[in-house]
Amino acid sequence: MFNIEELIKKIKSYNPLANFDLIRKSFDYGFNAHKGQYRASGEIYFTHPVEVANIVIDLKLDEATIITALLHDTVEDTDSSLNQLERVFGKEISQLVDGVTKLTNLELSSLETKHAENFRKLFMAMSKDLRVLLIKLADRLHNMRTIKALPINKQIRKSKETMEIFAPLAGRMGMQFMREELEDLSFRVLNSEARNSIIRRFITLRKETDDLVPKIIDDIQQQLKKENINARVTGREKKPYSIWRKMQYKKEGFTRLSDIFAFRIVTKNEIDAYIAMGSVHRRWRAVPGKFKDYISHPKSNGYRSIHTTVSGRDGKRVEVQIRTDEMDEVAESGVAAHWSYRDGERVKNPFVVDPFKWLRGLSDGFIKSDNPSEFFEHVKLEMFQDQVFCFTPKGEVIKLPRGATPIDFAYAIHTRIGDSCVGSMVDGQRVPLWTKLKNGQSVSIIRSEAQKPQSSWENMVYTGRAKTAIRRKLREEKRKENIRIGKEIARVSFEKVGKKVTDKALQTAAKKLVINNVDDLLASLGSVELTGDELIKTLYPKKITGLTIQNFGERKLSFVGLEPNQQANTASCCKPVPGERIVGIAQKQKGIIIHAIDCDNLQNLDNNSRNWLDLSWPNGDVQNSHPTSLTISMYNGVGVLGRICSLIGERGANITNIDFVDRKPDFYSIIIEIHVKDLKHLSDIMTSVEADSDIAVVVRTREVLETSSNQNPRILSNY
Ligand code: MN
Repeated sequence: MFNIEELIKKIKSYNPLANFDLIRKSFDYGFNAHKGQYRASGEIYFTHPVEVANIVIDLKLDEATIITALLHDTVEDTDSSLNQLERVFGKEISQLVDGVTKLTNLELSSLETKHAENFRKLFMAMSKDLRVLLIKLADRLHNMRTIKALPINKQIRKSKETMEIFAPLAGRMGMQFMREELEDLSFRVLNSEARNSIIRRFITLRKETDDLVPKIIDDIQQQLKKENINARVTGREKKPYSIWRKMQYKKEGFTRLSDIFAFRIVTKNEIDAYIAMGSVHRRWRAVPGKFKDYISHPKSNGYRSIHTTVSGRDGKRVEVQIRTDEMDEVAESGVAAHWSYRDGERVKNPFVVDPFKWLRGLSDGFIKSDNPSEFFEHVKLEMFQDQVFCFTPKGEVIKLPRGATPIDFAYAIHTRIGDSCVGSMVDGQRVPLWTKLKNGQSVSIIRSEAQKPQSSWENMVYTGRAKTAIRRKLREEKRKENIRIGKEIARVSFEKVGKKVTDKALQTAAKKLVINNVDDLLASLGSVELTGDELIKTLYPKKITGLTIQNFGERKLSFVGLEPNQQANTASCCKPVPGERIVGIAQKQKGIIIHAIDCDNLQNLDNNSRNWLDLSWPNGDVQNSHPTSLTISMYNGVGVLGRICSLIGERGANITNIDFVDRKPDFYSIIIEIHVKDLKHLSDIMTSVEADSDIAVVVRTREVLETSSNQNPRILSNY
């Protein structure tokens, strides 16, 4: 354990003007407060705050941070209070300790269900003063270094938490060494076998390459000397975890030196950095696609460096990072460099990112970023600020990208839960499924086994996982639905030509149309890629022409008001049915045509009143059925059309045609021709169709004839 004088000596080396009296006082205070307490390893407890202080001292941080590190566990673990700390050390220190304590509580309760609240505290504490987080990271680093003293289940829990939260956070803050060490310490607990095998491979590779590292460093130094560049050249072994991650990502083993070693050239100024880069590239061939210039495109945490890979000695690949001293400082301590001291003064490093701006960036997100390579990094890598952490009712953390909705959440747990999701509660409140989730919310999913993914969900989800699952399910359902609709269309189309639909007929049609099987045939009928008429034409080429001529022209009917030998047809535009007021129009070629009294086409017809006949339907004409058309707009859900068709059938009406007029992902409209007895029968059918919750509109459809400018079917009356 460090004694206070060792710490003081280290601090003096970079900040000789620090308040050493206060630092000594905090050391004594912490030592006394923790008296009688021991760590899991058996050491006295105060060794821990001192080691944490030592880590922040290595970062060359200010005295307030060091003092807070020494006191960080006093409020949580001893009799000290925040008031007391404020009296002795001042408001700044007590507030910092308060922040760290809140973060500590957050960890302690991570097994309990109420930690959603605590997660909010993390962000609250962070946004007040980022030094809280620096101390917390240092605290976590020391706890991870000594984790072997804990029981294994605790080791695993802490390691997962470190891997998922603290290491990415350190990375996000630009503290490379911190992130790598946290990851590696967690890796050692979570997957020691993988880690050991990587280390074994290290050792053999080092032997095989015959200690190439010093030779490569020498090569680079010789080359730089030629250009008169004064620079530090170092070689460094990559951490097992970052190698393992790369192996996972690329799905390949590591065989090259460049996979395990990175070399670094640190120059005095930026011009030298670029000269060094040119020099390295002239001496060794650059490997294509490996060059990145983060000096001209710095990362949002202030990281600046040139990255390149060259074919070095004996063609062996060598990865080189080139940057200046100042850039190197930011690369190692990131945002923390803002608080660091050199020669007794706050370091004025132009590349350090202002922590307040950095924090604002955290909440603003990087969507607005005009730096594409940086944006790519954000999308590609798992970044803390792009994520939200939400909780299941059992308190498990679900990590989601920012922008995710309860549906994403449901699919993140299990596809089955996603598929059957009908609603969601966030923090106990019912919210719409398109609600964007926020950090720390607890989410529960309301399910129904009858539910199926909806096409509207595609626009509500953010994660690829949910999108893929929804699309797959929708495709399946769509096909089932298309087959069902196709069956209905086939039935109607066959009936029109007086035939019955049989499997054999459909098989023959499929063969003639070069369609794989009957299901595919029905599916393409259902999706209107193939029309009913086309299907009939394949089987009965002659029938189809007969059908159009036949229309309803042959259906001669008797009406009250006609001579006994006179018959009339109903007009195909308005398709009147018994019960409606009608008028007969006598036309030379066509005979007498019966229109509904409110048919729009009447105004375009002959005004000669002698040709207008006052007619009415014969009494008791119920044995006949009369064609009429409805436009139905319905929700594009599974089985809706099939259900409507059978509903109409149950009401004793025949369906003779179905046309799709408007097909959108959510809704579609059909014009359906049905045969009804009379107006009462029709309105009975319309009422029962309308009563279906998936139906938006049911209207009687009447066509305006060619004489009018509007040739599209128009809705003229709505019962
Ligand atoms: Mn601690």
